[in-house]
Amino acid sequence: MKVLVINCGSSSLKYQVLQMESETLLCKGLVERIGIKGSVLKHEKIGQDKFVLEVPMNDHKDAIGHVLDAIVDENHGVAKSMAEIEAVGHRVVHAGEKYASSVKITEAVMQALEECTDLAPLHNPPNILGIRACQELMPNTPMVAVFDTAFHQTMPAESYIYAIPYEYYEKYKVRRYGFHGTSHKYVAERAAAMLGKPLNELKIITCHLGNGASVSAIKNGKCIDTSMGFTPLEGLVMGTRSGDIDPAIVTYIRQKENLPQGEMNNILNKKSGILGISGISSDFRDVEAAAEEGNYRAQLAEKVFAHKVRFYIGAYFAELNGADAIVFTAGVGENDMNMRDVICQNMDALGVKMDLVKNKVRGKETVISADDSKVKVLLIPTNEELMIARDTVALAND
Ligand code: AMP
Repeated sequence: MKVLVINCGSSSLKYQVLQMESETLLCKGLVERIGIKGSVLKHEKIGQDKFVLEVPMNDHKDAIGHVLDAIVDENHGVAKSMAEIEAVGHRVVHAGEKYASSVKITEAVMQALEECTDLAPLHNPPNILGIRACQELMPNTPMVAVFDTAFHQTMPAESYIYAIPYEYYEKYKVRRYGFHGTSHKYVAERAAAMLGKPLNELKIITCHLGNGASVSAIKNGKCIDTSMGFTPLEGLVMGTRSGDIDPAIVTYIRQKENLPQGEMNNILNKKSGILGISGISSDFRDVEAAAEEGNYRAQLAEKVFAHKVRFYIGAYFAELNGADAIVFTAGVGENDMNMRDVICQNMDALGVKMDLVKNKVRGKETVISADDSKVKVLLIPTNEELMIARDTVALAND
């Protein structure tokens, strides 16, 4: 069975086609600048050179039309006709409290997603557009929605309720939701496989450290806490997001700088984090290079980032009453050995002992803690698309 996985952003779209019997990736691609001058599709059949198409793409339907053409193309395609694509899995950011697992898409599901757009105004609308476009172009193909928030729905109320008037939860559903759920779930499952134990007997702290970053506490396969909250702004320091701050700062800076409505939101989401502290870049590679040359603010940005990850790991050790494993994943977690070192330094009291030689690795599923470390530290490349495709296979023919 071939499955198409789609991840739609506001002006971009990522996709993959997987052969699910062997869980093999057949092709992947990216469309950028949808609805903007300079639209481009970059398609890669695995094992072949990239195919690049630069044509105007006015909307998501246009873009998906070109993606489908690329998938069935004689030279760089991976299917003879669209009939071979038996199901489509869509990444959807927010399902509110409505779904705690993936669902087959029906009109009722679309209605529920529309109702959640208030909670994720930047993310859900393009996800919905992508689904609608696929439905028009592939009307008979079953589709499944896989939610970033779903895995975290098992959090107990004490983890997700904010200490603000309860009526805001009741009226507006203001609570902590958590994101990156598909990734946390995937690496937790892989961790169990690597440790050779059932997931439902393990306590795992998963660190998804990419441009967006979050940590989760997973007990017996269920998320009991995660660092992102009502939106993906809460928690760790990120590429351009502040993570946790004193909420009083928002009004204070707005008044001092006489900022227009909405500008603080922009500052905290797009101008803060690693970029905000370093003043150099949101990309850890640039910041690391500057830090090595002695740039104080770049060094500080890295330290603040590591401090916050350690802070959450410590908190989750307490919440879980110990942990069997800490997992690192995503761009920084998978590639940045120095950052992993710094984060795990001086944690021997918690039973964490890194092996600095084993840690000199990137992008590979492996154990990076010392043989006598009580808590295993694991490096696990995430694979959200595979997770989406698996759920799609499971639900498509329900
Ligand atoms: P993601 O959001 O998971 O794609 O991760 C993107 C982040 O990973 C960016 O900030 C990159 O700088 C970071 N990253 C990728 N490769 C490396 C590397 N070799 N060393 C440090 N950071 C990296």
